[in-house]
Amino acid sequence: MPAPPFDPEPLLARIRQRAAVIARPIRIMEVCGTHTHAIGRSGLRSLMPPNIELVSGPGCPVCVTSQSDIERILILARRPGLTLCTFGDMVRVPGLTSSLERERSAGADIRVVYSAMEALELAGREDGREVVFLAVGFETTSPGVASLILQADHQGVANLSFFISHKLIVPAMEAVLQGGSRIDGFLAPGHVSVIIGPEAYEGLAIRYSVPCVVTGFEPADVLEAIVMLLDCIVEGRPGSFVQYARAVKPGGNRRAWEMLTRVFDITDAEWRGLGVIPRSGLTLKPAFTRFDAAERYPLPEMPSVQPPGCRCGDVLRGLIHPPECPLFRQECTPRNPVGPCMVSSEGSCAARYTYG
Ligand code: SF4
Repeated sequence: MPAPPFDPEPLLARIRQRAAVIARPIRIMEVCGTHTHAIGRSGLRSLMPPNIELVSGPGCPVCVTSQSDIERILILARRPGLTLCTFGDMVRVPGLTSSLERERSAGADIRVVYSAMEALELAGREDGREVVFLAVGFETTSPGVASLILQADHQGVANLSFFISHKLIVPAMEAVLQGGSRIDGFLAPGHVSVIIGPEAYEGLAIRYSVPCVVTGFEPADVLEAIVMLLDCIVEGRPGSFVQYARAVKPGGNRRAWEMLTRVFDITDAEWRGLGVIPRSGLTLKPAFTRFDAAERYPLPEMPSVQPPGCRCGDVLRGLIHPPECPLFRQECTPRNPVGPCMVSSEGSCAARYTYG
């Protein structure tokens, strides 16, 4: 027998009851782009009581890649004899004067792949070409890239390298709090937490007195996590809690984390909108620098100049909602994005454009 349709009302009633007890404005940030998309698709933002505001955060990998990295990637793409492999969303991210999509139309060899493994296979098939994989994303994707680098190292693959722009989520959450955005609670990312474990948020939660609830991606998950966050706020109980217990286990995935730390060191990294955040990115350990595309093909440092008028940085810090950007729905649409937050379906502006 099919399951009955989900009725949000019992959870919404619990949210309304707690919101009435708190009786002050509460801002809850969903950190992860997949949550932003899920919340938009299910219309949960508009179901909140007036004093509960859901704010999007810096958890869309394409959106937080710095403009400086985007410009360097474009320079790389123009190199003769080089094939650039990337996940689809990166292709449409606008640079200041171009994008990978435009470079591809102009003749650059840019291939959209669905897994990093395809880059290794391509390098094996076309050993006369240099293949570069754009390694972008959080702890969800970086262990897979680490595994691939170990495999390429083991096989002695010489024509494959990686443009590393991997990021770590917890330092970005701290940067949001330090950057002037008032956040009363975090919906912490489900997929990342499978790897890093819920304990990773504990220090942040205690230091800033902000509860974090690791959340799944169904509307029922998000609503239940909001109830949990409001309970923490009512009771003055910061800490890290798990709603998504069917996937997230204490300690996370140690094997994945060990693989990641075999290949990468933690380093400072530049984020769109958040600037350089200490110890928020990954760099290859010295034993693997031959796989570093930025070493293999020296690239100039590029300034992080934002597209004129674009407020992506403020959106990513939770300082404004997408419709507050003057370009939203005007010059900037999913068909013609001005900033990266309008490109990916996980971007806050694209989700708001699509779902209202
Ligand atoms: Fe950037 Fe466009 Fe969003 Fe404005 S609407 S913040 S330009 S992506």
